[in-house]
Amino acid sequence: MECIFCQIVKKNIPAEIFYEDDKIIAFSDIRPIALIHILIIPKTHIKSVTDISEDDTLLMGKLIFTAKIIAERNDIAKKGYKLLFRVGKEGGQEVQHIHLHLLGGKAPK
Ligand code: 5GP
Ligand code: ZN
Repeated sequence: MECIFCQIVKKNIPAEIFYEDDKIIAFSDIRPIALIHILIIPKTHIKSVTDISEDDTLLMGKLIFTAKIIAERNDIAKKGYKLLFRVGKEGGQEVQHIHLHLLGGKAPK
């Protein structure tokens, strides 16, 4: 079966979308662990931080920049928030499509 996040990119699976451009999409996590829990992903399928190449560095920077914009729009920029990449098995990564967690609004775990 195709990657679940690629299916969200293609709008085959619904999600609450917070941001979208030609390269990036951000949507609510289905099982939030903070009041604000948004996943920011590249539209292109990259498995993990382990798989990024030097050609992806601008795209990875855009993920972080998008997190900053979303934090401002959701009024948590001043209060602070957490950005998290889980990487691989021991990093606890469950979905094999790279994603940046934006956690805020309440002390995230
Ligand atoms: P990971 O553990 O890989 O860093 O995080 C994967 C995240 O994806 C989890 O927090 C999980 O709740 C979320 N997730 C898994 N499947 C779906 C889905 O179908 N839709 C959405 N919106 N989030 C999902
Ligand atoms: Zn994918």
